[in-house]
Amino acid sequence: MTEQKAVMNYMARNELMSFAPSAALIDMDGTLYDSMGHHADAWYRMISELGIKCDRDEFFMYEGRTGVDTINIIFRRAYGHDASPEQAKELYRRKTVLFSEMPPVEPMKGAQRMVKALLDNRVSTVLVTGSGQNTLLNRLDTDYPGAFPAGMRVTGHDVSQGKPHPEPFLKGMRLAGVHPENSIAIDNAPLGVMAGAASGAFTIGVTTGPIPEKALWDAGADIVYPSMDALADKIGSLVNSFNMSI
Ligand code: MG
Repeated sequence: MTEQKAVMNYMARNELMSFAPSAALIDMDGTLYDSMGHHADAWYRMISELGIKCDRDEFFMYEGRTGVDTINIIFRRAYGHDASPEQAKELYRRKTVLFSEMPPVEPMKGAQRMVKALLDNRVSTVLVTGSGQNTLLNRLDTDYPGAFPAGMRVTGHDVSQGKPHPEPFLKGMRLAGVHPENSIAIDNAPLGVMAGAASGAFTIGVTTGPIPEKALWDAGADIVYPSMDALADKIGSLVNSFNMSI
């Protein structure tokens, strides 16, 4: 699908006469950082330490959820009930420690160029992640200078309902002072794309791991790219499409 066609479909669906986005709401893990493998390993080790059986790859399917949501999925399966809030907090802390002990992750290839292209086109950038992993949050200012200042971040600590609920993206829009129809959501995971689509933003899915493109289309993406480099190449034409009116 071309950028122009995707934007026209979005405008028709939302009964818009024009579309000029002023903010991009951007996921962190698997989008800004090539971190999903480490997260899956850390989850697998933390849950295994409890003596609960789990599959390392299942954690890719939970990508986008808050830590507490993920813990409760496992607890309900193993014990038939949620973890207590204190227990969930402690287990998530253990998982973040295991993650922080792994080798450093790199920014996703193409993501720095993608973010710079947005800023160059006067689209402001907001972080919208389910994560509370300070190991990565503390690196954003270095790896993405000026893009995600403290007031422009929604993390797992800031929401009561994580992705696929639209709350994280809606909070990001409030931080940027924009309406859904002036927003772009960018995410690599089906649950994140579902949340973006439910928030009303023009939603871009990018495959950066084992999840196939079809899963992102099925989750409601307006357009899907096979890599962050591919999206970075198209930011200019996307913004131009957005500024067209019918
Ligand atoms: Mg992600």
